[in-house]
Amino acid sequence: MIPFNKPFLTGNESLYILRAHENGVLSGDGPFTKYCQEWLEVKTGAHKSLITHSCTAALEMAALLLDIQCGDEVIMPSYTFVSTANAFVLRGAVPVFVDIRQDTLNINERLIEAAVTPRTRAIVPVHYAGVACEMDAIMKIAHRYGLAVIEDAAQGVMSTYKGRALGSIGDMGCFSFHETKNVISGEGGALLVNNLKFAERAEMIREKGTNRSQFFRGQVDKYTWVDVGSSYLPGEIIAAFLWAQLQEADNITNSRMAVWAAYHEAFECLEMQGHVKRPSLPNNCQHNAHMYYLLLNNLEERTAFISAMKSLDIHCVFHYVPLHSAPYGLKKGRTKGDLLITADLSDRLVRLPLWIGIRAQQERVIEAVINFFQK
Ligand SMILES: *Cc1c(COP(=O)(O)O)cnc(C)c1O
Repeated sequence: MIPFNKPFLTGNESLYILRAHENGVLSGDGPFTKYCQEWLEVKTGAHKSLITHSCTAALEMAALLLDIQCGDEVIMPSYTFVSTANAFVLRGAVPVFVDIRQDTLNINERLIEAAVTPRTRAIVPVHYAGVACEMDAIMKIAHRYGLAVIEDAAQGVMSTYKGRALGSIGDMGCFSFHETKNVISGEGGALLVNNLKFAERAEMIREKGTNRSQFFRGQVDKYTWVDVGSSYLPGEIIAAFLWAQLQEADNITNSRMAVWAAYHEAFECLEMQGHVKRPSLPNNCQHNAHMYYLLLNNLEERTAFISAMKSLDIHCVFHYVPLHSAPYGLKKGRTKGDLLITADLSDRLVRLPLWIGIRAQQERVIEAVINFFQK
């Protein structure tokens, strides 16, 4: 069986975990946490980075930092993972879903302004497949209406938009290091704080609403309860694992790019024959080969495709059920306009296996895909 995903290990993870054990610091914010956060700050240019249990946790922190209140509205695509919406629904907010672009499957920036109301507090662009949203246009709308921008850059670690790291452009950005992402720690994530006004409070919210970080820096003489908060920091074992991965992040990206490029080149003929549409990449963006997907002609064809691949022991998968049509999305969310492109593309998209080490078997996948359309 060629699996859809296979986590990549650099080989240093267990060594660093042993070192964390030797350091005698197993709770959060030890040396490995600092290495990871410094690396993320240098690599992305973010003012501050805080590693978390997950991207979900980072999104929840962002919602707390914005003081999102019951009835506030947050504009986002419907074509995304549940956490993008849930983080705000937890605070009583209403996700307002707008349609995506035909080319990148990212939020259509031209539809955002019409969704703004007096209750709107934030825009949450999701960089699908690690390909950037049109951030200049989105930031301009946010400034015009005084809205915050929280980038869901769960899939965008190591990607850039006009030379700037995804996650470093909005007020805050959220990364995921989940096993299914490019750089991993099993479960894991990070909050990037770009707007200085959120930096100090972000530390407190992450540390159960205390000023513990200030205490350890000697800025206050006792540490106490100062704000709302929760436990959003991972222990040093996770940080040690993540540090091994971050050190190899460039190599991980390059290896994935080679797999992505081989698919892209092989399927050019299928696109020219009108069988599939391959991913589109805007000129000003560098992606990270998080995902290789194809858009087929309709849902029936995709169902047949996935089962044909399965019969050849190749695991291909579809992606999101649009949130606006999910049971809880119907209850908690609102749409602005018809989400026709979301409904259409989500039915037709299929993701192919992409992981480091697949190269030896990739020809088998390519051949199977080409045969499916040419039989
Ligand atoms: C993976 C993902 C998340 C959630 O990440 P976790 O680290 O698993 O919480 C959120 N948003 C998007 C777009 C994702 O792809």
